[in-house]
Amino acid sequence: MKPRTKLQLRVAGLSSQLPNIESLMIDWAKNECLKHIGYATKSRIICMECGQRFAPELVKRKRAVCPHCDTSLKIEQSRKRINKQTMFIGKAEICEEFQVIRSFELIAYYRAETKPRYYIREILQHWIKDDGNREVVALANNMGFNGWCGELEIRNKVVGSYYYNHNNDIYCERYHPASVFRPKYIRMGIDCKLRGMSFLTAANTIPHSPKAETLLKARRYELIDYFEGHRYKIDKYWPSIKICLRNKYQIKDASMWFDYLELLDRYHKDLHNAFYVCPKNLRKAHDYYVAKRKKEQEKAEKERREQEMLKQKEAINKFLERISKFQDLVITDNQLTIIPLKSIEDFKEEGDKMHHCVFTNEYWKRENSLILSARIEDKRIETVEVNLKTLRVVQSQGVLNHDTKYHDRIIGLVTKNMNLIRQKLTA
Ligand SMILES: [Zn+2]
Repeated sequence: MKPRTKLQLRVAGLSSQLPNIESLMIDWAKNECLKHIGYATKSRIICMECGQRFAPELVKRKRAVCPHCDTSLKIEQSRKRINKQTMFIGKAEICEEFQVIRSFELIAYYRAETKPRYYIREILQHWIKDDGNREVVALANNMGFNGWCGELEIRNKVVGSYYYNHNNDIYCERYHPASVFRPKYIRMGIDCKLRGMSFLTAANTIPHSPKAETLLKARRYELIDYFEGHRYKIDKYWPSIKICLRNKYQIKDASMWFDYLELLDRYHKDLHNAFYVCPKNLRKAHDYYVAKRKKEQEKAEKERREQEMLKQKEAINKFLERISKFQDLVITDNQLTIIPLKSIEDFKEEGDKMHHCVFTNEYWKRENSLILSARIEDKRIETVEVNLKTLRVVQSQGVLNHDTKYHDRIIGLVTKNMNLIRQKLTA
């Protein structure tokens, strides 16, 4: 987009004079941001930092120092020999009257036997004045996630922002330690340690949200992460969060902690009590209540199933009582024989052989229906439903619900003999 306004022209001019800091960013990030991994099998470790191998004996508690390059590695059990890491990193600078946030995409490729390759490109800059006016300088992001292309130039700024999206804001996982922020942001608690929110989101949210400000100043980034998307959890459990802050209780796994609070809540435990809210071993406490809940659910499920079986048994008994009147009913014209389905097994067999739903849809449960099977010798021709209230044939279905050439004859025969059914019914 061509700069048009006075502000855009000034930002475009200043932006083009910013020094290239890509190598500075890589030098910092490859040691401080990217994960240093060693892939381990039983016989060897591959250091992904230098590509060389060493013996598994050097691993202690899932960590090891590579004897070739001295990197401290996190060891993962895997046969993998390659790895790729992608992240967004940022640096805050002050340029004339602007707070500038420069965002970079970093990609690292790791491969056994070789050194890693790093690629970095600057993709977005925020230029923000103290009065809140701002501009965005960025690559084009036409395709959304990861679809950055073109040159750094003035772009439309769209409000509302989280993570990398087409809103022209980027969530940087880390900021370079040499970042410089204006005092007004420092006062909000924003500095190079900011996590869980993009700079823009933080700068826009904190002035209106004392909770966000409290969390940010306490550096509780694990909870800030919940502000967007799961804000209700922060609000709902704010008293418990304050207890954590007061007790300096570190929440290692926030999602597990929120799950745990939900369970505490369900069992009416005191959410203002550090004994419950700040468990020494979160996983153990969490698992205790999960197990308790699971037991309850299983009990309820068992009861439900028992109820169901009881209901089914009752329904079967009712059916058998109803059908007992029709035990010896036979309608015939000497070729066709039409007899009732007299048991649940009869229904199942009829449904299986005729490939229709007389059994699966539990037609035997229909109090006002009499289900008949029309046959020639042992061959099933059609299944007939008679409405016992109106004494009319409701339907007659052949295999796969198709009509047979006997269709009209069957309906005629049943209709002609409806008196037989009436007699049984009133007997
Ligand atoms: Zn190494």
